[in-house]
Amino acid sequence: MPSTDDSTDPTDPTDSTGPVGVDAFRAEAERFLRSIAGEFADAGLAERRRSSDRIAAVEELGEGYEHQVKRARELQARLFDAGLAWPSGPADCGGRGLGREHDRVVDDLLGELGFPSREMLFVGLHIVAPALDAHGTTELRRRILPALYRADIIGCQLFSEPGAGSDLAGVTTRAVRDGDDWILSGQKVWTSMGHLADVGEALVRTDPSAAKHGGLTMFLVDMRAPGVTVRPIRQMTGGSAFNEVFLDGVRVPDAHRVGGVGEGWRVAGTSLGSERETMTGDDGPVSPYVLERLVALAERLKAAADPVHRPQIARTVAAVTAMRAAAELPDGSWGHGLAPVSGSVLKMLMTRAVDEIAALAAEVLGEDAFTDAGEPDTYAWSEFVLGAPALHIAGGTDEIQLNIIAQRGLGLPRPPRPAATRPA
Ligand SMILES: Cc1cc2nc3c(=O)[nH]c(=O)nc-3n(C[C@H](O)[C@H](O)[C@H](O)COP(=O)(O)OP(=O)(O)OC[C@H]3O[C@@H](n4cnc5c(N)ncnc54)[C@H](O)[C@@H]3O)c2cc1C
Repeated sequence: MPSTDDSTDPTDPTDSTGPVGVDAFRAEAERFLRSIAGEFADAGLAERRRSSDRIAAVEELGEGYEHQVKRARELQARLFDAGLAWPSGPADCGGRGLGREHDRVVDDLLGELGFPSREMLFVGLHIVAPALDAHGTTELRRRILPALYRADIIGCQLFSEPGAGSDLAGVTTRAVRDGDDWILSGQKVWTSMGHLADVGEALVRTDPSAAKHGGLTMFLVDMRAPGVTVRPIRQMTGGSAFNEVFLDGVRVPDAHRVGGVGEGWRVAGTSLGSERETMTGDDGPVSPYVLERLVALAERLKAAADPVHRPQIARTVAAVTAMRAAAELPDGSWGHGLAPVSGSVLKMLMTRAVDEIAALAAEVLGEDAFTDAGEPDTYAWSEFVLGAPALHIAGGTDEIQLNIIAQRGLGLPRPPRPAATRPA
């Protein structure tokens, strides 16, 4: 249960690290956010409400994205300086030693008060940082984590390769020891925000003779280092938020290793678990902003009065409510078997909710969703509808999540391997 300890004065600027109850923390955070809301009005929800041009399911970073990135970084720096960027983090890395429910308070308030999206920071904050915090050395954590949480630097995830996606343990990018450094060579792909990133969390093979999962190690790569080439990939939505990344003899200090040599698989697990869990948050595709727009659309088109659309609306509300309810379960309340796979369950609930939202928008709008007639809240939905399928793939495909839930969560047997084909 959240604590309601109000004994710490939330307005005392000298006391930003002591324990503080959720209610007092919310009051502190709300007071601060309201005091700076005016500075971000140009890039926040209020502005986007007036615009008809963008409702995205996955990060897009289309036209004008430099401005979005700049405003998100400014907001993140203000949050960090006020002790609100990472409430649950340790004090020596810029956090306040509070609970994850305190993190959620800030995320909720940012959504409610219409602050700009921080989607381009998602990978650094929710994929790279948790692994670094759990497995990095004290020196690396103290240097990199505050910079990530203040958005002084942006992070990306260098896991997938042309031949290793679902079968992630099959990565072939090599790292060879050279004195105090490692030399990395290989290719990564689908690297979200790679073109903006300062650091990349790279899963690479350090021991080709070891068992598949055992020969992997994780490094933090300087994305500006010689030998790193980043090439954007155009998506079917029109945006290009992900990239190919070529590593050609890139020198990485051993001090930038995250976890032990050969422990990369465990470190990757921390990143992937966090990624799947946080995709259900307010910076994810099922944000309050999207729902607000969807409700407005349904009302404007009087969809609730239509017998065809009514069940669809009900299904959408049910899917979103189920996702929210599961996402808000307090730590420790997942059943014994499902606790280790809660990220996969949440991700499946999120993709179901996204599908319902996309289907409803496309159904009620018809061709108006895809032909830009300049009407507000019509063509704006094309990006969401076209981006929805990507969520069945990003962060691990649906099939892989279902396998994880079935085998690791419910203890079901692995499917039998297909019999080897015998020569005739
Ligand atoms: C929007 C987006 C952003 C992304 N961002 C990043 C990023 O920042 N960094 C990064 O490293 N990667 C990123 N990815 C890549 C993503 O993690 C991979 O695309 C994903 O893991 C699937 O790998 P793959 O594309 O190689 O497909 P494959 O692994 O080739 O899978 C092809 C199909 O086969 C199915 N399949 C494979 N194995 C099995 C199995 N054992 N059982 C049942 N079905 C199976 C899959 O479910 C899928 O339908 C991103 C992807 C998207 C769409």
